[in-house]
Amino acid sequence: MAETESPNNAAYFLPNVRRLRGDVVPGLDLMPPAIDFLPPQIADAKMYCSHCRCDVPVPLKKTFSEPPTPVFPKDYDPVTNNKFWQLFALEVDCPRCNAKVRLEPPRRPWTKTVNLYGNEAVRETVAQPFVCIALVGGSDRYVEEVCNKVASLKRKLEPDRDPVSWRFHMADIHSGQKRQRHKIFSSWTRDKCEQALKDLFSVVAGSNDSLFVFALVYPMSGASPMIVTKRKAYMAILCDTIYHFTQLEASPRYTFDADKAVNDNRSVIQNWARSAFLGSERQLMYLYLCHGVPVPEPQFVKQGSHIGLELADFVAFVVARELYCRQNGRQSEYMSSQLGKVYYSWPDTGGYARERTVGVPKGRIFSSIASNLPPD
Ligand SMILES: [Zn+2]
Repeated sequence: MAETESPNNAAYFLPNVRRLRGDVVPGLDLMPPAIDFLPPQIADAKMYCSHCRCDVPVPLKKTFSEPPTPVFPKDYDPVTNNKFWQLFALEVDCPRCNAKVRLEPPRRPWTKTVNLYGNEAVRETVAQPFVCIALVGGSDRYVEEVCNKVASLKRKLEPDRDPVSWRFHMADIHSGQKRQRHKIFSSWTRDKCEQALKDLFSVVAGSNDSLFVFALVYPMSGASPMIVTKRKAYMAILCDTIYHFTQLEASPRYTFDADKAVNDNRSVIQNWARSAFLGSERQLMYLYLCHGVPVPEPQFVKQGSHIGLELADFVAFVVARELYCRQNGRQSEYMSSQLGKVYYSWPDTGGYARERTVGVPKGRIFSSIASNLPPD
């Protein structure tokens, strides 16, 4: 390729290395980082400057043109050649005296993979509008187990239909109008709907020990457009889960419902999400978040094309519905306590709060809404 002949291009010096992201993704070096929250352990990270003779803060906001994330050789194969390169050390400037400091960012091995499926519910017509993103998943075996349970529930409900040919979609089941227009749900009685959801609740709650369920609630601030809140919510839950899973040597793989309809089995590039993730990877703090473990760019696929996405839609709907109803002084028809234990998270005074509880902690989420949003 012509461009690799330029001595300025890193691939010129590393001929066996897969083309770098910057070569594949146009405009990567212009994508802005979008990380708003850091675990305190990272925010307070220090390094020793031998010139200052003391510990100084790590310049976490240092931004590179190419992400310093792991590099895979061209002959990389997960089975026969699973070697990849983690950055071991780099030189950064001391924020006090500008001297060069050798920094070894945290590194963990990559020993397992978790699959996480994500979906969102946006509620704009309430006093305090918000975005809710749910992630559901875990290791392959457990995801498969829970998906099999959902598939057999679908077979029980619609014995004559292939369970992959239709999906649970809460917006269509909940709204009487939408239900009437739906090719399957229109034939369901109220009792059948209620029983189906009850069964879905028990599949999720019954998998509490093996399945990870996350629900992030992010309030919209009046001034910023919805897409800004969506990006903040998306990055917050990614950073949270990337940090915690990579600490356990697990690489999370994210699959989200696409914003809009896409063709069968195709993934689609959503520019706002791509730019937020890849732009963030360029920042030094990202290396601290991911512990040097490779995390692939999240994928956006056809809506509901995996049972994991149906479950994530269910969780996001249930949590959003309860918060919506509370703001309208009512009780939800589908209480989140039926999901069992969920990792709930939301922005608060300390930056980002997270708690694994039964039932969405409504009071805590809404008490923190007014005063403590990070600035745009
Ligand atoms: Zn110094």
